[in-house]
Amino acid sequence: CILARMNLEITQAIKALLETPQKIVIVPHKNPDGDAIGSTLGLWHYLIKKGHEAVIVSPNDFPKFLKWMPGSEKIVNFEKEASAAKDLISKASVIFTLDFNHLGRIGQLQPLLEEATATFVMIDHHQEPSDYAQIMYSDVRMSSTCEMVYNFVEALGDTDLIDPEIGICLYTGIMTDTGSFKFSSTTSRTHKVVAQLIDKGAKNTEAHNKVYDTNTPSRLHLLGCALKNMVILEEYHTTYITLSQEELDQCEYKKGDTEGFVNYGLTLEGIKFAVIFIENKEEGIIKISFRSEGTFSVNEFARNHFNGGGHTNASGGRSDVSMEETTNFFKSLLPKYKEALEA
Ligand code: 5GP
Ligand code: MN
Repeated sequence: CILARMNLEITQAIKALLETPQKIVIVPHKNPDGDAIGSTLGLWHYLIKKGHEAVIVSPNDFPKFLKWMPGSEKIVNFEKEASAAKDLISKASVIFTLDFNHLGRIGQLQPLLEEATATFVMIDHHQEPSDYAQIMYSDVRMSSTCEMVYNFVEALGDTDLIDPEIGICLYTGIMTDTGSFKFSSTTSRTHKVVAQLIDKGAKNTEAHNKVYDTNTPSRLHLLGCALKNMVILEEYHTTYITLSQEELDQCEYKKGDTEGFVNYGLTLEGIKFAVIFIENKEEGIIKISFRSEGTFSVNEFARNHFNGGGHTNASGGRSDVSMEETTNFFKSLLPKYKEALEA
């Protein structure tokens, strides 16, 4: 098992693995976001160009604002095509897992991957990866898994193969995971990679328009509702939003509609910790997103109290009790973190 940056050792292991044509399955995390879809598609286009048989199997569906990405229509959705997905996974010789750090992040696909006999390759930037993969390219300093896929292709000496399609997929994931190049994970290297992608033909403005400028009126109404529900806890430099199932239904909620809502909290001056609680009656849970500015680790907060995890400044989790009980529990935790939230 190799845990590292894209170094020589890891490059050689990958080269040996991909020397002959392989049957490859690429898996993103459940509820895939721009980085998960962009990185799996970018890698998929590349592996096909290299002569492998490759397919992306997603644990479930993904939002409409990502469905324009080239190749996205070929992604196998496990919830809709379970038997095809099972077959592909059991026959795969290599399985790439992208943008997640443990198999608990792939929902119903978990038992299938645990049984698979393929060689596993992880490409991921989340903290504390578990060690199911024989080859691990895991680096928490990376802005995005898409930036890592670029490094991967570069290390294999194949940047010449990056075409406008691969370019736009990787560009989109870097864009969404860095909050359009503004989060602290954005480095000069990130900008250099993005510059390369544009030079390879990625239509950057198109990515911004297609992801961010395709709102529906009902989504903006939902945003209005979310902002109205915002609670500000000045003492703790904290703000949170709730959205009940009823409110979601009233605004004809569709997958992806709440993407980015949590970030509005952080735009308030002096606020360091922003949270959104979203009720999901079907799954019987409250899905939670946490965001922070500065050193307060929402990864630890989500891990310790809400059965989740992620990154220092962006994480997620869940709660199995009612919205009221969840927010009361959340508020009861804050006094313990008062100092950390002032830092
Ligand atoms: P989001 O709030 O946008 O859904 O997720 C923010 C970050 O936290 C992402 O990196 C995502 O992978 C991670 N994350 C979201 N939900 C969960 C969860 O339930 N468990 C873990 N371990 N990570 C999560
Ligand atoms: Mn990511």
